Amino acid sequence: MKALLIENGEAKIVEDYHKPEIKPGWTLIKPRVVGICKTDLELMKGYMNFSGVPGHEFVGVVEEASDEKLLGRRVVGEINFACGSCEYCKTGLQRHCPNRSVLGIQNADGVFAEYTTLPQENIHVLPEGVSDDQAVFVEPLAASLEILMQTHIKPTWRIYVLGDGKLGLLITQVLRLTGCDLTLVGKHENKLRIVERMGVKTSTLEKVPEIKADLVVECTGNPKGYSLAKRLIRPSGTIIAKSTYHQNLELNWSEIVVDEITIIGSRCGPFTPAIRLLELGLIDTDSLITARYQFKEVLKAFDHARNSEAIKILVQMGKG
Ligand SMILES: [Zn+2]
Ligand SMILES: [Zn+2]
Repeated sequence: MKALLIENGEAKIVEDYHKPEIKPGWTLIKPRVVGICKTDLELMKGYMNFSGVPGHEFVGVVEEASDEKLLGRRVVGEINFACGSCEYCKTGLQRHCPNRSVLGIQNADGVFAEYTTLPQENIHVLPEGVSDDQAVFVEPLAASLEILMQTHIKPTWRIYVLGDGKLGLLITQVLRLTGCDLTLVGKHENKLRIVERMGVKTSTLEKVPEIKADLVVECTGNPKGYSLAKRLIRPSGTIIAKSTYHQNLELNWSEIVVDEITIIGSRCGPFTPAIRLLELGLIDTDSLITARYQFKEVLKAFDHARNSEAIKILVQMGKG
């Protein structure tokens, strides 16, 4: 089958990649639309020492499954594949299973291919009311909702979201629903305007008001984002850390201790409410789609995704 392959930090299209074999309890899926994530770009730079097929933001159709009700259904899928038998898996912490693999990120081929496989328990069937384009955003929208799973946000709080990338724009839309005093801090006019139209305050990095916040979400994808988060958080406040980097981050631990800052690492989140928010039309994803490419132009699509003006680049699978 055709697939995009990362090997030794290089990406190429191959025509004769092995079609995945389905293990018992797994499904075979034909991806329809795939989104390029910043994580995919980091993998190409060496993050996770990944080799294989990248891609984890997708909507596809089930081709094979032991549950016949799933056949032909349009689905999205959770990306962590847990072992199911360790201490973590048995206590509901499957996402932290030390034996896990992660779709297109860690020990598992992803969705930039004609076929992909996921465990049946990871699959979510999409309702009619959610389009393919919207569905590609389920995974990052779920990651945005994870913040609400981790901390009790009060509507009286002042919150800064740092970083106007796709995740920042989705997180801003989610937090806007809480009624909090919200500012998105970024550096791209075109991106800030998307949430300005929804009545959210925005600021450029240089002009951030020096008023401290109860909660800061750091999703700049840049190690410098952390220093800004630290500058903007009030004593006893909470920083939600969303960025992952190939490099290490330096931080002044004593400041965290003295100011009693809570830092919460935040990764994947719940799919069901993400699908619900999309179905209810509460999240604008159309404005986040910058361009669409056919799979044969996937490398061009990745180049486009590296452009800082780009938000979400979609790749249409199965059409040459
Ligand atoms: Zn992603
Ligand atoms: Zn496990």
